[in-house]
Amino acid sequence: MNNGCIPTKTLLHTADLYREMTNQADIIGLDYQALSFDMKKMQLHKQDVIQKLREGIAKLMKMHKVTIIKGCAKIVGEHEIAIQSDEKVENIEVKNILIATGSVPAMPQIKGAELTINSDELLNDENVYEQIAIIGGGVIGIEFAFLYASLGKRVIILEALDRILANMDKEFAQSLKMLLSKRNVEIQTKALVQEISYNEETKKYNCKYLQKDAEYIISADKVLMAVGRRAYTQNLFADDLSIETDRGKIKVNENYQTNIENIYASGDVIGGIQLAHVATAEAINAVCYMLGRVPIYNMKLIPSCIYTNPEIASIGMTLDEAKAQGINVKTIKYPMGANGKTVLSLQERGFIKIIVDKETDCILGAQMMCAHATDMISQFTQAIQQELTLADLQKIIFPHPTFNEAIGKAVE
Ligand code: NAD
Repeated sequence: MNNGCIPTKTLLHTADLYREMTNQADIIGLDYQALSFDMKKMQLHKQDVIQKLREGIAKLMKMHKVTIIKGCAKIVGEHEIAIQSDEKVENIEVKNILIATGSVPAMPQIKGAELTINSDELLNDENVYEQIAIIGGGVIGIEFAFLYASLGKRVIILEALDRILANMDKEFAQSLKMLLSKRNVEIQTKALVQEISYNEETKKYNCKYLQKDAEYIISADKVLMAVGRRAYTQNLFADDLSIETDRGKIKVNENYQTNIENIYASGDVIGGIQLAHVATAEAINAVCYMLGRVPIYNMKLIPSCIYTNPEIASIGMTLDEAKAQGINVKTIKYPMGANGKTVLSLQERGFIKIIVDKETDCILGAQMMCAHATDMISQFTQAIQQELTLADLQKIIFPHPTFNEAIGKAVE
């Protein structure tokens, strides 16, 4: 709640509105005297949203008789936790422990890396930089690129691999690249950052990077380091407690149990897919295992959502993944330019792609890049979970006009 999904999406919401008003107000018949944004107010609004949601969760905790102890916890024995708050240390005895301490931004061994800002810090920054360089074209880098671009600022992304969002369907990267270049975002791929330095005269940061054996330097008012997040376990265990880890991540078995039977772990701290909804599902499944119950969630079907504009969402197999597994598939692609709601609300062109097993007609995957994609993807998650066929989806009547009806048109 404090650092991540809700705060980022709150700022992105304001930035998207600002961009839409700036670019489209005139077209859709709105007139205003002057439009500007105020990052201080945006931050206040963000805090307000966090506070409201936090209070709601606190109420739920109370209702379910969950005791919250505020302090810094250290696991000192298999069944014992020491909690430090202010100068006091209180020890409690417990039956089971679930570690859900999450992750922190990773800092690579690059000269001058300490001069950069990380995403947790930038999320709370009341300054807006005229030009920002982003190291890493993963999900965090791309979402911040959209935030800054929507506020009319210049962005340069430096990505080490040959495309941004490297672990997603390559069509997303291709479409985003075109879209971002229209919004004053420069993307440099295969760019290996060598050094970051600060120039006292120009008051700018310089990023030196290697690309195809040539050396380049770009300068910016701030450099965001977004090259991944690492498990957070600092001071979590007493020295004599040996919890197995793998490159800093807590090792767990398929039941989320660590090498100590009654200590479980879930979320970013165990690595894997670092997403809030995955962390929640893992935690709930872990508690099911603790209580000897059947786990609730199917961890094989995990939606990915990126809050760009238009949004990106993906579930199940991509075409490349299906091909790699030797499955005979067909791809259905529907352009959102033919969807009424997309046209009337002046959305960017996007697409819906459905991967279908040719032999069984079952839906195997879907990739969407369009307005409200993150809300709509669950329809495909359900279809895959319930092994629905294309013919099953064709029976559904979708309301008109909606973004959702594009799914109906695609399967039609
Ligand atoms: P990431 O792993 O998604 O991307 C990091 C990128 O940095 C990669 O593309 C990598 O090739 C690149 N990189 C690494 N070292 C580099 C270097 N020295 N120079 C240039 N590029 C370099 O990590 P992230 O974007 O920091 O996100 C961290 C985690 O948080 C991810 O697991 C992500 O899925 C999650 N997250 C998800 C959402 C969402 O789902 N909407 C939002 C924010 C974060």
